[in-house]
Amino acid sequence: MADLNPPKGKTFVVEHLDPELEEWSSLEYSSIAAESHAAGAQFLLSSVPPSLKLPKNLQQAKGLKVETRGIEEIYVDSKHRVCLLDPAASRDLSPEDGDTFDVFLFGGILGDDPPRDRTSELRKKGYQGRRLGAIQMTTDTAVRVTRIVVQDKVAVDKIPYIDNPELRVSKNETSEMPFRYVKGEHGQPIMPEGMLELIKKDSEKGLGDLL
Ligand code: SAM
Repeated sequence: MADLNPPKGKTFVVEHLDPELEEWSSLEYSSIAAESHAAGAQFLLSSVPPSLKLPKNLQQAKGLKVETRGIEEIYVDSKHRVCLLDPAASRDLSPEDGDTFDVFLFGGILGDDPPRDRTSELRKKGYQGRRLGAIQMTTDTAVRVTRIVVQDKVAVDKIPYIDNPELRVSKNETSEMPFRYVKGEHGQPIMPEGMLELIKKDSEKGLGDLL
């Protein structure tokens, strides 16, 4: 007989911490929305300034809920069910954490090298924290890995990764991405649709600035 009350997927909350929404973030957010939707999970983008106009790809993204409120206001009565994914946490996320927490919180921050620890803005709110290993991931990778661990119940160190991939940005040039990615079935780093093109465009711009 069909299960009339199937277990609800997890909620992944990205607290947007930048005043603007860069194209890079919008590609990450639309890939988080699509994957969450496909996996029966919810994706909530919180703390979005009311004045911020979302780009088209996000306005039309299935599975994305946008909130102007911040995480503390939204989960005021269930703080103990929220887990912050924190590169500085002392414990790694485990499949069992999927039984303890319903909500997984991430910093909506662009990765930086060296990392500036902007996740501390969320850490000081007092949520329980878990790490996804010692290497910095992009936000969409961090959500992807968390989903694999807590929904698919795969240990964080059993997921195949690619660290610091070298991407070919032109015929003669490569660019190293200082992050950890999940390895795709063809051995490639999994990235949001359109990201490689954006990286190529940005690297051309960088070169243009030098000329
Ligand atoms: N440079 C960063 C900082 O200032 O904290 C890391 C930003 S990372 C691109 C965006 C978010 O992904 C972080 O706020 C965190 O929630 C999550 N994240 C990335 N790598 C992680 C890791 N190794 N362990 C736990 N969370 C991670």
